[in-house]
Amino acid sequence: MFVVMRTGATEAEVNGVKGLILAEGLTPFENVGSDRVNAGTDRVNAGTARVVIAIVGEIGGRRPQLMARLGTTPGVATVTPISKPYKLVSREFHPEDTVIRVLDAVIGDGTLTVMAGPCSIESREQLLATADFVAGHGATIIRGGAFMPRTSPYSFQGLGVEGLRYLAEVRERTGLPVITEVMEPSQVDIVAEYADILQIGTRNMQNFSLLLACGRAGRPVMLKRGFGATIEEWLMAAEYIASAGNSQIILCERGIRTFETYSRNTMDLTAVPLAHHFTHLPVIVDPSHATGRRWLVKPLAIGGVAVGADGIMVEVHPRPDEALSDAEQQLDFAGFEQMMDAIVGVHEHVRDLHGDLNADATRSGKG
Ligand code: PEP
Ligand code: MN
Repeated sequence: MFVVMRTGATEAEVNGVKGLILAEGLTPFENVGSDRVNAGTDRVNAGTARVVIAIVGEIGGRRPQLMARLGTTPGVATVTPISKPYKLVSREFHPEDTVIRVLDAVIGDGTLTVMAGPCSIESREQLLATADFVAGHGATIIRGGAFMPRTSPYSFQGLGVEGLRYLAEVRERTGLPVITEVMEPSQVDIVAEYADILQIGTRNMQNFSLLLACGRAGRPVMLKRGFGATIEEWLMAAEYIASAGNSQIILCERGIRTFETYSRNTMDLTAVPLAHHFTHLPVIVDPSHATGRRWLVKPLAIGGVAVGADGIMVEVHPRPDEALSDAEQQLDFAGFEQMMDAIVGVHEHVRDLHGDLNADATRSGKG
């Protein structure tokens, strides 16, 4: 459930509500919505700013009494139950879209985010050449795997920290933020030292200690959907990150496993409007891992943008056929350029339409 404080509620009243929640052994989370960020900390003079506090924890049978008690606590306007098992990432708690700013990149504000770069970082030259090209052709964030989750223990496992250093060099060179995968809690500090956004891969979507560690790392996190996960499980995984104090989460649909064998995975386009409907988090699509085939990347990137994704992640390599990982799905430079031409046009076309659709989702909320 969540408590909406009256406009102009005092700091003491807000603290009173939080104290009551804590005394019940539950945790209060303040919604840092845009109105309140802009209003700063001076809530008494904040004009229209309203403080909203989510209550998380096992409330169980105490719900009716707690709701009644909070309803009569000074400064409280309304107390509302949250119908979904995820709370902090739900639209019910936080109706406004979350917008994430990393260096000069903005994700979730209606602009098109393009994360591009090689599957794995193979050498300094390979990463720099790719980053220079994609940065010059519309990429807003550079990707590259340093710690690689490979199905086979005998496949290339990535350059590790050496790869992270090249990524940091790319940030200096292009001015763009960099994203890379972190595979285990013990790697979070070192990856957060070099990367601007932490990526949690499909195989780790329910690695709960990793989710919590990333939630505490103080960097935005991109959470890929588990290839066998329902949307609710995906959002519960996001809730783990948020429960550790970090709501700067980007969701990434990267394909799920179905009975189909002609593509590597099946890209679930429905997941994009669904996730936008139920959460306030930005949602991007990864047509590279979703399809596993180079020639399918452009049509599925178009599809993702058309259904309202906030952006895409794609793999690009100077010589894809020689790539040490995911050779069949990486775009070459010409392929990236062609894909960009297509999706920029589609994005222009659908942008206003999705503004309306998301507003509908926000209003009708929960269903
Ligand atoms: C990746 O993006 O490098 C990756 C391994 O993707 P996924 O976790 O979706 O397989
Ligand atoms: Mn890959």
